[in-house]
Amino acid sequence: MKLALWASFLCYNFYMSKLDDIVSLCKRRGFIFPGSDVYGGMAGTWDFGPLGVMLKNNLVNTWWSHWVDQRDDMFGIDAAIIMNPTTWEASGHTATFADPLIECNECHSRFRADKLVDGYSESITTEEFKAINPACPNCGKTNWGSIRKFNMMFSTHVGAVLPEDESGSESDKELARRSIAYLRPETAQGIFTNYKNVVDTIYPSVPFGLCQFGKSFRNEISPRDYILRDRECSQFEIEYFVHPNTWAENFETIHKEYLDFLTNKLGLKAENIHELEVPEEDRAFYSKRTIDIMYNYPNGEEELMGIAYRTDYDLSNVAKASGKNMEYRDKITGETFVPHVIEPSMGLERAILAILSEAYYEDEMDGETRVVLKLPENLAPYKFCVSPLLKNKPELVDKAREVYNQLKAKYTFVTWDDSGNIGKRYRKQDEIGTPKCIVIDFDTLEDDTVTVRDRDTAEQVRVKINEL
Ligand SMILES: [Zn+2]
Repeated sequence: MKLALWASFLCYNFYMSKLDDIVSLCKRRGFIFPGSDVYGGMAGTWDFGPLGVMLKNNLVNTWWSHWVDQRDDMFGIDAAIIMNPTTWEASGHTATFADPLIECNECHSRFRADKLVDGYSESITTEEFKAINPACPNCGKTNWGSIRKFNMMFSTHVGAVLPEDESGSESDKELARRSIAYLRPETAQGIFTNYKNVVDTIYPSVPFGLCQFGKSFRNEISPRDYILRDRECSQFEIEYFVHPNTWAENFETIHKEYLDFLTNKLGLKAENIHELEVPEEDRAFYSKRTIDIMYNYPNGEEELMGIAYRTDYDLSNVAKASGKNMEYRDKITGETFVPHVIEPSMGLERAILAILSEAYYEDEMDGETRVVLKLPENLAPYKFCVSPLLKNKPELVDKAREVYNQLKAKYTFVTWDDSGNIGKRYRKQDEIGTPKCIVIDFDTLEDDTVTVRDRDTAEQVRVKINEL
């Protein structure tokens, strides 16, 4: 028992420091910076730096190519972030997209109530909370107010509304009230609201999917866990429209395809992915089946994505609130029905942290600790780094520039490095995940071969320039 405790303690410390190492690497090498860093930051926001935006774009392109471009049954859309507020009335977000907020009566700090006590969900009541009565994380006292529901949508005014309108005459107040709009808390509603436009313009056959990638916003009470729980994030969402009788097999197909995508395209190991069949009492009332796909992050298991069967709940809500018919008419049988949907939804930041956690390794090389990001080639920011063995030999530099220009024209994502010595350049490229380093030396001038060094094995081979 004692041994097990020690083992888990050591593991905990090891993993905590692995997350710290990833955070530090991301800042040091220009992957991820804290948002508004220069002004002391902005809680719950993160910025992608030059390397991070390349990784992000590669992930987006990998996803889009796999789920949209390479398929005949999936189509893309890109809806506006600010939507008609009726959207959020109809979807239920205005009424229920809320977290339980509790305030300390002593220091007036505010927290998400369910996060201060173990084993409770968002539905925790004031009585349940006070029965446990945890200490305030800020001041240590136990004098709490009552739980209030805090809606997590960011609101703004659309149009010419002045701050004083909100406390002005009745007509000014009405103007201010009617101008309230929200930054979308999920991208999915942009798909449902465009369903009819798509069906009426490109006439897809059910089953078909609409895919969207884009920003969404949640005013989290306490953003935390690095980029896992932030206030501004990006989502990959698919709504796959099916005949009601075929939802179960379509669910299974999409589920299996997504697991293949995570392992084959994003490089996540199957042993780090766990599935949680969400029990009925925890599912949204309209969902007949939901699977949470969890990933073993360095700081513990967390949700990476979810796949939910949402019946015709969303389209029926749109039909009700808009008065428009959302029925689909089968081209062969003539049968009309409101399609049901299977919704796989993945967060970009969650995927990026999973990819980085999977890729991050430390090993020993030449008696030193080496940090390496073993990113899959399709995700690595740069595919090649080209450098002359010596910076002060013009004949080597000229030849290296020639090779660099040739590769850049062919592969685009090629970087040049002539700083420090060759060992330092390898370490830097290992840290940013560049799969191959190409070095031009004096032999190159004789026989047109270069050294190609592999990131993962550090093995070097001579290759003819025209075979690169
Ligand atoms: Zn307090």
